[in-house]
Amino acid sequence: MPAQGMAIRGQRSLLRQIREALAGGGPAQARLDMVVRIIALSMVAEVCSIYLRRATGEMELFATEGLEPGAVHVTRMKPGEGLVGEIMRLGRPLNLADAPEHPAFSYRPETGEDPYHAFLGVPLLRGGRAIGVLVVQNRTARVYTEDEVEDLQIIAMVLAEMVASGELIGVEEMNGVELAPRRPDRLKGSRFAEGLAYGVAVLHEPPVAPSQLLSEDAAAEEIRLKGAIEALQAQIDEMLEGQHGLVDASYEVLETYRMFAHDRGWNRSLEDAVRNGLTAEAAVERVRSEHRARLGQARDPYLRERLHDLEDLNDRLLRHLAGDGHVARDLPENAILIARNLGPADLLEYDRTRLRGLLLEEGSSASHAAIVARALDIPCVGRLPGLRDRVSEGDPVIVDAETGEAYLRPRTDVVKAIQARIDVRRQRQAAFAKLRETPAFTRDGVKITLLMNAGLDVDLESMADAGAEGIGLFRTEFQFMVSEEMPRFNAQAALYGRVMDAAGDKPVTFRTLDLGGDKVLPYLEAEREDNPALGWRAIRMGLDRPALLRLQLRALIAAAKGRALRIMFPLVASCDEFRAARALVDTEVAWALRRGRPAPSRLDVGAMIEAPSVIWHLDALLPMTDFVSVGTNDLMQYLFAADRGNPRVADRYDPLSPPALRALETIQRACAETGTPVSVCGEMAGRPLEAFTLVALGFERLSMPPAGIGPVKQMVLSCDREAARRGVSALLKSGAGSVRNEIETLARKLYLAV
Ligand code: PEP
Ligand code: MG
Repeated sequence: MPAQGMAIRGQRSLLRQIREALAGGGPAQARLDMVVRIIALSMVAEVCSIYLRRATGEMELFATEGLEPGAVHVTRMKPGEGLVGEIMRLGRPLNLADAPEHPAFSYRPETGEDPYHAFLGVPLLRGGRAIGVLVVQNRTARVYTEDEVEDLQIIAMVLAEMVASGELIGVEEMNGVELAPRRPDRLKGSRFAEGLAYGVAVLHEPPVAPSQLLSEDAAAEEIRLKGAIEALQAQIDEMLEGQHGLVDASYEVLETYRMFAHDRGWNRSLEDAVRNGLTAEAAVERVRSEHRARLGQARDPYLRERLHDLEDLNDRLLRHLAGDGHVARDLPENAILIARNLGPADLLEYDRTRLRGLLLEEGSSASHAAIVARALDIPCVGRLPGLRDRVSEGDPVIVDAETGEAYLRPRTDVVKAIQARIDVRRQRQAAFAKLRETPAFTRDGVKITLLMNAGLDVDLESMADAGAEGIGLFRTEFQFMVSEEMPRFNAQAALYGRVMDAAGDKPVTFRTLDLGGDKVLPYLEAEREDNPALGWRAIRMGLDRPALLRLQLRALIAAAKGRALRIMFPLVASCDEFRAARALVDTEVAWALRRGRPAPSRLDVGAMIEAPSVIWHLDALLPMTDFVSVGTNDLMQYLFAADRGNPRVADRYDPLSPPALRALETIQRACAETGTPVSVCGEMAGRPLEAFTLVALGFERLSMPPAGIGPVKQMVLSCDREAARRGVSALLKSGAGSVRNEIETLARKLYLAV
């Protein structure tokens, strides 16, 4: 073997030779035999062997040049068994000067490998999963050079894609070879957005297609890659300097990003791959695959976190290669989107009419991606560990967001059962639709007003369908999040006008911009913050940047055209903040009047109760407001000191627990005493059991995702508020961390439809 590894030209011509050999057709075995011969020759190796993974999990010798031919299809290694099993388990190369000395070496007499000492094996990786192992061996004890390892990895990548696409051996001949996970699989996660869906998997970041693996012109490709890397580095440097609030990452994370982006090893691996004939995209995938395989197994949470950084960096690099634009994808009719995680606006880039469901490896149910899924009524299950590596594009998939499970490649009986449940759900929905015009009175005659949460044009269609009595929370920042640039006055006023037109006589409560935290805008400068959730967000940003807030208030007043207007400020943490914000509204009304424009016929200005501080200042705050709305998503995050976007802590505490319920009761009582209209607009208001608890605590206005209205109304119609109140108030004294089970028992005792 030459000390330098293969020359660049040699590498490219090797890939071409393999291609040509395969183009000749012929039986699979003959083609594989040819491939190992070509590799052995080209790498000056005495042995070259290919092992492929069987459905049993074993690696089977499929072809060899140099070992005993009789061992082909006979020698098999379990995961972790022998050097091949070890490579498969670790997902990374093993480069050994003297293989028999290695503790994992397992002697197989049938192979006749006694005379070979030098051993280099690399995994055939797809999506971070080893589907095979490619090995070269030499008699002389020596360590292969880094270049040789890199060369063999590139060949392995190309082979992996060829095997997977059926280019290398016919698909029919691969019976029992497990290229991608094939067996039915069931993963348990958490419900993020209710519902059921059956469809085909669409990967949010699909792997590079085999046809795009090899470049035509390596030099041009290298220039393209370098350009993209430089753009990425500049972007990260800028982010670090606080020029763009691009990610909600802490300083250390950004530092790590910068370290990776400038990492010579990373850059070199990418460049080598491109020089050796891969396209820049394929190079990114190759290096990504290797990192996933290597870091994905790490137990150490720190290392696993680094994998996230790398994933994000790889995605950014791919975006730079694609010219920074998101490419709109053609979706199949019944697409189930699969992603590790999604930003709040990512989901909106997909065609909603074709998107049936969403599966996330990570995320949390209070994250805005989950909120958008609920707003769009797309069933979503999240926190499914290992999801991305266990599903391939086009796999049949079930999203069971009733139980919080995902079925990958389900058996026919499971599909039948799910289809039956989908039918039942449809019937239930038809039943809810029948209730559309029925007012929601409890059995003892209390009227509960059911409103919906909205934020986009698409939501307006659901208002009539769901039977909402108005919009209790219009999240104005969604328009900002889905726009490429800051929406100007006209665009804002136009949207608000459309919303009011669609609502007609029904009330709409517009919440002013609630940015910051996990809602970041690429075009709005924001400094990095160590604790974005506790940082410069919502009304704080609005008061510090009054021009932005005033422009929005002006747009709202203009859109109202003399109609009634309801405005609400997010995350009010002190009376002073509310006073200052309210003064801005007055200023804008005066401004409109001075110009002869109509003031709203009625103006209600309210505060969101989200910061715990105001719970102990309600006596001062409430008289200043026309109404309040409890944002339980944030209120719970701050009460329990648990970041709503962090899956490790987001669902750790239950809103159905004494401290949370007592806080809610305090708010409700204070509002009742001062006669302040109050609603609850956090996600819990849309879940029947939680809504039941809120009704029991005395709340009579609930605002929720449109899909929650039917089920909550059914609950209300079956509920006796007085009995509910007695049952729930007894539980407030409990010493338990959660009283969910007790509330469920109570609901069952009261024959409630929850
Ligand atoms: C909340 O915090 O409960 C709320 C309704 O606002 P958002 O989820 O948009 O922060
Ligand atoms: Mg909030």
